[in-house]
Amino acid sequence: MTTIGSTAMAAAEEDLTERAKRHLIQPWPVAETMGDEARPLIGEGDGIYITDAAGKRLIDGPAGMWCTNIGHRRRELADVMHEQAMALSYSSPWYTTSSPSVALAERIAAHAPGDLNHVFFTTGGSSAVETALRFMQFYNNVRGRPDKKLILSRGSAYHGSTYLSASLNARPRDNDWMDSAGDLVVKLSSPNPFRRPGGKTVVEFADVLVDEFRDTVARVGAERIGAFVAEPIQASGGVIVPPEGYLPRIREICRANDILYICDEVVTAFGRLGHVFASGEIFGLDPDMITFAKGVTSGYFPLGGVVISDRLLEDLRRSNHPEAMFAHGLTNTSHPIGCAVALKNLDILEDGVLDHVREVTPYFQARLRDLADLPLVGEVRGLGMMAGIECVAGPAGEEGGALDETIGKRIDGHCQELGLLVRPIVNMCVMSPPLTITRAQIDDMAAILREGISRTMDDLEREGLW
Ligand code: PMP
Repeated sequence: MTTIGSTAMAAAEEDLTERAKRHLIQPWPVAETMGDEARPLIGEGDGIYITDAAGKRLIDGPAGMWCTNIGHRRRELADVMHEQAMALSYSSPWYTTSSPSVALAERIAAHAPGDLNHVFFTTGGSSAVETALRFMQFYNNVRGRPDKKLILSRGSAYHGSTYLSASLNARPRDNDWMDSAGDLVVKLSSPNPFRRPGGKTVVEFADVLVDEFRDTVARVGAERIGAFVAEPIQASGGVIVPPEGYLPRIREICRANDILYICDEVVTAFGRLGHVFASGEIFGLDPDMITFAKGVTSGYFPLGGVVISDRLLEDLRRSNHPEAMFAHGLTNTSHPIGCAVALKNLDILEDGVLDHVREVTPYFQARLRDLADLPLVGEVRGLGMMAGIECVAGPAGEEGGALDETIGKRIDGHCQELGLLVRPIVNMCVMSPPLTITRAQIDDMAAILREGISRTMDDLEREGLW
């Protein structure tokens, strides 16, 4: 295997920076530097590590974007990609079927809860959510209920970057400069127990959320609401683990009002919580649809999809419009290489990685929760192999509105020097490493975080910001 030396990497980065600035637009840019920006070069990945331009090895703290679940440089995935490309690189899903897509749909259906037995493949998470929402619209049109289309979403949500999926987003700044299909969406409160109304216990907070949901359905009218879309744990909103029991209660209200429950498992599926799907196993949910992406191929190939229940398809077949067409599909729907990669990835997950996650999760969560003794840390929360460290201005537990907004970036800067890539979100650090991480590597990660946060506290103090 060839590896690039650090001098060559530094030169390559310099060159790349200039070339990127000339022609490459990076995602989520700001106007000032859009089309004139290069982000740090990452040369290589290996297991839970990536290597930066200076040749420094970093723990891949966010697993890319919650996606490199089985880690980098897995020969089995490279081989299967090659083999499938040589056997059949593409065939049109409009008028043919490829065997990897059938095999993968079967495997996914076997893991999905309840009667979710039918898979529509997409190219990622946004297109999966978009597909689920367009399916809901189609479903209600065919069933003669064209007014039942509103979508319920929640504060802190993130569901994608296509027009309809992005219209559900509700994190700070997501909608400041972007148009959205806002008239199709009704927003509910964030289910963040850390930011619950003063004086309420977490149990009471669950009641508040359920009451809000029930009241909203009553006010807007169930006959106008088509779907509720929810991540079981809000990921990029800050690893928000909702109060226990609240999601199943919402599910029942949805069922009673014929509102489709769409569980967005783009982050939580394929091992992050120790199961292929978390809806049933962890949250006791049997949604009408589940969206997935990211970990389905551990980031080796762009793939996503929606699992749809028997019941919804039977309703369509029994409707008065059997001729109605779901005019929706992507050139790369059911891509044979993506599906072949996902099958191999699933083999690897089932062959020890899921067990490893279930075994190592308590250790991972405990080591990160140890950081809560640092005065800057307000809360460490999470479930499975996802955790959020929320920094606050005051002593732990107080609201941290006054805290310097660059706090996450500052921590990330220090941690990178020490050998850990962090995913900073405003005042938060998100940790979701590759699932193959060992206890010793978890210790390294926690030690670096402790040092990075301590150095950040020193900076803030020196600058009079804290
Ligand atoms: N849903 C959730 C919960 C996500 O976290 C994301 C991506 N971060 C998406 C949907 C969109 O997925 P993608 O970026 O693959 O389009």
